[in-house]
Amino acid sequence: MEQDADIIIVGGGLNGCTTALALAQIGQEVILIDAMDSSTLASDIFDGRSYALALTSKNMLNVLGLWGEVADKSCPMLDIKVSDGRAGEGAAPWFVHFDHNELEEGPMGHMLEDRYLRQALLKAIDDTPAITHMESTKVVDQQIDVGGVSVTLESGQVLHAKLLVGCDGRSSQVAVRAGIGRKGWGYDQTSLVCAVAHGKPHDNTAHQFFMPAGPLAILPLNGNVSSIVWTESTERAEEISAMDEADYLDCLRPCFGDFLGKISLAGGRYSYPLGLSLADRFVDHRLALVGDAAHGVHPLAGQGLNLGLRDIAALVEVLADAMRRGEDIGALNVLQRFQQWRRFDTAGLAAATDGINRLFSNDNPLLRTVRGLGLGFVNSNPAMRRGFMRQAAGLTGDLPKMLQGRIV
Ligand SMILES: Cc1cc2nc3c(=O)[nH]c(=O)nc-3n(C[C@H](O)[C@H](O)[C@H](O)COP(=O)(O)OP(=O)(O)OC[C@H]3O[C@@H](n4cnc5c(N)ncnc54)[C@H](O)[C@@H]3O)c2cc1C
Repeated sequence: MEQDADIIIVGGGLNGCTTALALAQIGQEVILIDAMDSSTLASDIFDGRSYALALTSKNMLNVLGLWGEVADKSCPMLDIKVSDGRAGEGAAPWFVHFDHNELEEGPMGHMLEDRYLRQALLKAIDDTPAITHMESTKVVDQQIDVGGVSVTLESGQVLHAKLLVGCDGRSSQVAVRAGIGRKGWGYDQTSLVCAVAHGKPHDNTAHQFFMPAGPLAILPLNGNVSSIVWTESTERAEEISAMDEADYLDCLRPCFGDFLGKISLAGGRYSYPLGLSLADRFVDHRLALVGDAAHGVHPLAGQGLNLGLRDIAALVEVLADAMRRGEDIGALNVLQRFQQWRRFDTAGLAAATDGINRLFSNDNPLLRTVRGLGLGFVNSNPAMRRGFMRQAAGLTGDLPKMLQGRIV
């Protein structure tokens, strides 16, 4: 079968775009397909969405030549403070303080606005001749044969390659068409996402308050601005979303407290219903799933995109090794090495975020006492604090080269 490219990627979100660049870096010809128009995905206007990128994700963006484009727009998270809280009462006396001075590698992570990351990715894709970027076109079918894979676009055009990578998000149709099921459940929680400008400086400190309905994260952006991920029950979140700006802020203020002074909205308001979703398999013949297509976790640890970047780094390393050995990059035994590398880490984080959410998102007095004691214990134990910090920075486990800042 004549190939149009070595690899076809379905889904040009953050993970799809990064996968394309990483594959091009190891010499692969790539077709990247997305249903949406990139200009709507990477507008110049701040839309309030941003990500906590772990230290190792920053290393990877550096290897891909992207970090230089976004470094001055990112905001280092020097300290992270985690506490139990209740609306109107502020943070409880028990808390954990993660201080970057205890980590020799540097800040645990950086906050970066969605628009800057997308713009840098799209510019790099435009500048990479090995990537053909097809926008505003949907993949509607796929066929996997012994010799290759073909995908059909809604226009009827058929494209052929050796490998198909599904980066098409939580309801991945690439996975569905391959007969890959998924496990998971909804949390009956919705995250309200926005950015707020505030009167006092945040001192590069990220806060996580575990409120009875769900966590509230206040994450530093450049200037006196913070990104908010505010989790409520889905019913309450729908009520709050329907409010005008003044009422919305009146609901947020009692959870937020007054430690950053007066707050006002900066950018749009978004809401994301939360759930856990894990694909039964990450690979099939000539097929690999990456990012949210493989796993969607609770955002309380800010790790969803970081997990996707880990997938990409592992996949690219496995494929580069296979190419050096003269193996077929679409062969199942090659792709299973990628699955083996990623599955345990992913399942572990999914279980950890699920457990923490269940333990903290309630107002049970007994559990509040247990949580307080637990937070106090971690805070007084430097080895445990460092362990959590290394985890948040992405420094634990068998790290692919790109996450160590090394070219594959
Ligand atoms: C409230 C919240 C806060 C978060 N905060 C953080 C954080 O701080 N740090 C972090 O690391 N992660 C965070 N995450 C997770 C992160 O946002 C996601 O993991 C990440 O954006 C997933 O990207 P993706 O490219 O895998 O999927 P998606 O963004 O879902 O992209 C999928 C793409 O596939 C395309 N597509 C789908 N079907 C087709 C088709 N048939 N044909 C062509 N194209 C198709 C879509 O148009 C889309 O562009 C957060 C998530 C939430 C909900």
